Amino acid sequence: DAGVMAKAAVQYQDTPKGKDRCSTCANFIAPHSCKVVAGNISPNGWCIAFVPKS
Ligand code: SF4
Repeated sequence: DAGVMAKAAVQYQDTPKGKDRCSTCANFIAPHSCKVVAGNISPNGWCIAFVPKS
């Protein structure tokens, strides 16, 4: 299920941060959700809760 933290609380942005982006984050749920952040999440977004996929 999608997460409950607000985008603002994790400084979510609709653009990548360097090479890091939601599509390469372990928390991302394709196509447009996240395990920890609520709302519509872009595969090309980023936030401070980013965890690289292993
Ligand atoms: Fe979710 Fe943040 Fe990871 Fe994006 S970078 S998938 S918003 S935890």
